[in-house]
Amino acid sequence: MRLILLGPPGAGKGTQAERVCAAHGLVHLSTGDLLRAAVKAGSDLGNEAKAFMDAGNLVPDTLVLALVRERLDQPDAEGGFLLDGFPRNVSQAEALAEDLGARAVESVVHMKLEDEEIVRRLLGRGRKDDTESVIRNRLQVYRDETAPLIAYYQAQTVEGQSGERHSLLRTIDAQGSMDEVFDRIQDALSSQNSNQSGTGASV
Ligand code: ADP
Repeated sequence: MRLILLGPPGAGKGTQAERVCAAHGLVHLSTGDLLRAAVKAGSDLGNEAKAFMDAGNLVPDTLVLALVRERLDQPDAEGGFLLDGFPRNVSQAEALAEDLGARAVESVVHMKLEDEEIVRRLLGRGRKDDTESVIRNRLQVYRDETAPLIAYYQAQTVEGQSGERHSLLRTIDAQGSMDEVFDRIQDALSSQNSNQSGTGASV
């Protein structure tokens, strides 16, 4: 299975990604985690990314794409992967589609959450880039750059078993307990898979 988890900061993508990957035997690729590891290791890439992350801005596509390509090129990714925090804008999505070719993404789960709840969760989390002004900026960046991916993936279709086409995107409510949200994701994936004949995505 090749999946994308899409949603605002604080939607719980990281937590749910781990559970979904464990349940389906997928490689978990979180660009946020990879970037934080690069910053911690003090690599050139990490040093370059740090100021963007601290301000809640997107790290330049070239840096992020380098990390994603390196990870997806490893043999274990052939068994399926879940992308968490990537793509984060349309140009990253286009680069991804080109890189993957026939290994196209099969499902995009959009985790939807109200702004008020996002801010409440992130302030409670207390990561270094979780101050109120940085959170506000990350939300604005999400609206401007990432939210257009909802329509982008909604418009992409896969062929169902009886030849009908349906959207790649499923939206679920990210409000609720971790178990409730996980069940909604699993339901979205099984409805997606039972619809799908495996011929891959097209626009
Ligand atoms: P959150 O889910 O709270 O938004 P992430 O861990 O996904 O946090 O990302 C943290 C920061 O890392 C982002 O604010 C951004 O600076 C950077 N980042 C992560 N993924 C990407 C990406 N695909 N493109 C650009 N920047 C990214």
